[in-house]
Amino acid sequence: MCQTIVILLLLALVALVAYVAYASATISSGFFVKATCRLGSPSSLLLTFDDGPDPRYTPALLDLLARLNVRAVFFVIGQKAQAHPELIRRMVAEGHLVGNHTFVHNPFYAFRSARSIARELKATDDVLRSLGVEPKLFRPPLGITNRAIAKAAALMNYRTVGWSIRSFDTRRSDTPERILKRVESRISGGDIVLLHDRMPDVCRLVGQIVIFARERHGIERFDHRSL
Ligand SMILES: [Zn+2]
Repeated sequence: MCQTIVILLLLALVALVAYVAYASATISSGFFVKATCRLGSPSSLLLTFDDGPDPRYTPALLDLLARLNVRAVFFVIGQKAQAHPELIRRMVAEGHLVGNHTFVHNPFYAFRSARSIARELKATDDVLRSLGVEPKLFRPPLGITNRAIAKAAALMNYRTVGWSIRSFDTRRSDTPERILKRVESRISGGDIVLLHDRMPDVCRLVGQIVIFARERHGIERFDHRSL
């Protein structure tokens, strides 16, 4: 029994090492491409929120965005959208765009075929369309794309949208002050900022980023029109 467990653990370790080696090789060979992206207008800034909707933080974030007159893009996970349809309806009613961020956000999805990835995108697409959304934008999890992901996005008629500033707001070791410093040191007109509405400090970060961009860079437009 004990021997079987050791063998299984060894097999799991070998599989993990093989996966990491494969991933590093494909990334370093340029097979994976970071989906970076900027706005067409240098006088605008776009805030984007991935991995929601989250019933704990998304409602307060929507309240804040309305007060600040900011129109954002939410790249939602299909199964979360299915569980919280009221939040999707609210996003649309309040002028935000809703994009596809896969159905389950599995980090290994990138190793599947284009058709299999397209099926996953379609599952989210179906949920969003049932809620009256016509999704046109796709953000790949982790912001990396490859030939299969690009083909799947094309099959679904999606435009892939990355970011120009990654806040790293999901790093639990970073304080909100540190995250803000990182964003503020890089920000300029035309940037697309990546944030997550599943993180508890999202409202605090958004409030400060908008004030900073308005006061330091004179940015007045925070919307998706020049995307
Ligand atoms: Zn994500």
